[in-house]
Amino acid sequence: MTRSCCLVRQAPGSYKGKNRRQGEETTHGQAARGSLWATVTHPDVGHAGGTVCYERVVNTLRRAEAALLVGLSILLLGAGRHPARGGEPAATAEPERGSCRRSAFRVVVDVGHTREVPGAVSARGVPEYTFNLQLGTEIRQALVDAGFKKAVLLITAAAPPLGLVERAARANGLRADLFISVHHDSVPVRLLETWQYQGRENHFSDRFTGYAIFMSDDNADRAGSLQFGRFLGRELQARGLHYTPHYTLPLMGKRRRQLLDAAAGVYRYDQLIVLRESRMPAVLLEAGSIVNRQEEVELASRERRALVGAAVAAAVEDFCAARPHPKIVPVKRPSSAGPGRRRGRVNSAASAR
Ligand SMILES: [Zn+2]
Repeated sequence: MTRSCCLVRQAPGSYKGKNRRQGEETTHGQAARGSLWATVTHPDVGHAGGTVCYERVVNTLRRAEAALLVGLSILLLGAGRHPARGGEPAATAEPERGSCRRSAFRVVVDVGHTREVPGAVSARGVPEYTFNLQLGTEIRQALVDAGFKKAVLLITAAAPPLGLVERAARANGLRADLFISVHHDSVPVRLLETWQYQGRENHFSDRFTGYAIFMSDDNADRAGSLQFGRFLGRELQARGLHYTPHYTLPLMGKRRRQLLDAAAGVYRYDQLIVLRESRMPAVLLEAGSIVNRQEEVELASRERRALVGAAVAAAVEDFCAARPHPKIVPVKRPSSAGPGRRRGRVNSAASAR
């Protein structure tokens, strides 16, 4: 399910249930050890859960993001990279008409979670981060092999919530054309059952299988995000995979999501930080359920990773061809410390929680 953990934060003491090391609760429980969280108190969420950013935290994150952007801007300007997209788009935009220039199209493949805060735990006790890293590496290589040589594997050591902002900031700094966050699903803790595997107690749920794709209406390029999500769902299904419909079920409670595309399996999840703060089309892919005992075995196989890697590469090809002209997004200047549109939106959303 979901733990798009990524975007959501919880406060210490807000967790419920005893299987914290399982789902989102686990991930967030670990995240809560950070000093920032000591000031936050909020409930909610899981992978595709909710966001908990109170103003104090958000403001702190904003300052951190601004610092990151300053550093990235200096580095990029110094290296002379993407000059056409750093503020003078009209004069220097590349004449990409009629076809996709794969060598110039940059995809950021974000490895969800960190080694220290690894996300969900599989039915056999393997951290989600392990699955994410293996699949992310496979996807990045598939993209390079397909000619998208600027594809970047994004690995972040910083724990959430700063780590989440950092992911988006790094993608923004790289002027990426597309952001794909790679995750593996779990289910709400209350749906987990217990079993013994190799002499150890583990938790599982065999109720749901399949991938899920999330996009945020708060992303700077909502239409692009949805378009790529549709392409990705189509390519996954062309390879025999299916999406999980369980995010639409009442049993998901606050984690229910609006199914935007019932054919491709694209859900709406506005609050995900990595999606809303990225200024390029962005999706989060839950590649499958690692708490499902059968699907975990499949997800751990080279064959399944190769299948997903090929699907992503094909979807990126489709997307690049459909959008030959890179979207020009103004650089966020560090000096614009005033209450800009996005800043105001984030704060209002955060305070609403
Ligand atoms: Zn995750």
